[in-house]
Amino acid sequence: MDVITLGETMVLFTPKSSGLMRYAGDFSTKVAGAESNVAIGLARLGHQTGWISRLGKDEFGEKIQSFIRGEGVDVSQVTFDDSASTGLYFKEKLTANELRLKYYRSDSAASRMSDDDLDETYISNARFLHVTGITPALSEHCFETVLKAMEYAHRNGVTVVFDPNLRRKLWTDSYARQVLRKLSGMADIVLPGIDEAEFIFGQSDHESLAQAFFDNGAKTVIMKLGKKGAYVHSDQSKGFVEGFPVEQVVDPVGAGDGFAAGCLSGLIDGLGLKEAVKRGNAVGAMVTMVDGDVEGLPGKARLTEFMNRTHRDDV
Ligand code: ATP
Repeated sequence: MDVITLGETMVLFTPKSSGLMRYAGDFSTKVAGAESNVAIGLARLGHQTGWISRLGKDEFGEKIQSFIRGEGVDVSQVTFDDSASTGLYFKEKLTANELRLKYYRSDSAASRMSDDDLDETYISNARFLHVTGITPALSEHCFETVLKAMEYAHRNGVTVVFDPNLRRKLWTDSYARQVLRKLSGMADIVLPGIDEAEFIFGQSDHESLAQAFFDNGAKTVIMKLGKKGAYVHSDQSKGFVEGFPVEQVVDPVGAGDGFAAGCLSGLIDGLGLKEAVKRGNAVGAMVTMVDGDVEGLPGKARLTEFMNRTHRDDV
């Protein structure tokens, strides 16, 4: 395996009409989860990926497993829980520009993940373990599962990648800050967005914030700066990697996951840090141009074409 990831994936319902959801009759359904998005992004780029999770023993669980398996991700470590449901969420379009999200995930099957869901040998065979700050917010069990997965990775020389992916609805600010700071410090590579960095370390400029993550223990900091691109900070390399221009942003959600997939893909292919981040910027930009979290994730050929079309010599 190149990358193994761990986390909750839900079925997302979006009403086809705008307005209060009580009046909605038709919904579209999609499979949505930050970690599985990253696994899918990497699989599209030709890498071997695995996703660890727990699903409810229900039709939504079956839908998620088939979808992710169909994208070429190994789901051999996914288990089904008889006594809990798969998480669901709804994206209510109140007006053209106003969205309201409603989650039905409390005590979901994934929130019951525990150390028993982890196989050290499976993790030890990967090059990277990717985890996010969403999982520890689901439950104490889930937090312990993330810690155990990191421990297995460290013990077996697997590089740990951590994306804070702050979800303020899931926990209190003070506890979130404490846990995200701890996990960021345990990661080899940390991928915060600038807003998340400010949430964790206080308002400052991107250089000082990257330094704060570095001083906190991360060996490589890759800070996402939206359309501007990203800022990297490691022992070997520091500086901006400019983003790719996008004609029209259709749906920005999922850009961060695409970015993570692109960066990891570059590192797996042996690119230098800034070249890998450039690939991350390209995938992130491509995701914003398509509706949905995973629909815009490119294969290698489309990615190369996009990057060549917007050629840059700056890294
Ligand atoms: P998400 O909404 O998925 O949580 P995020 O907040 O983690 O995203 P962003 O900084 O919004 O992360 O986006 C990740 C990367 O995607 C950026 O660093 C950039 O490379 C690319 N990107 C995002 N938005 C744009 C844009 N409007 N134009 C070009 N590139 C973009």
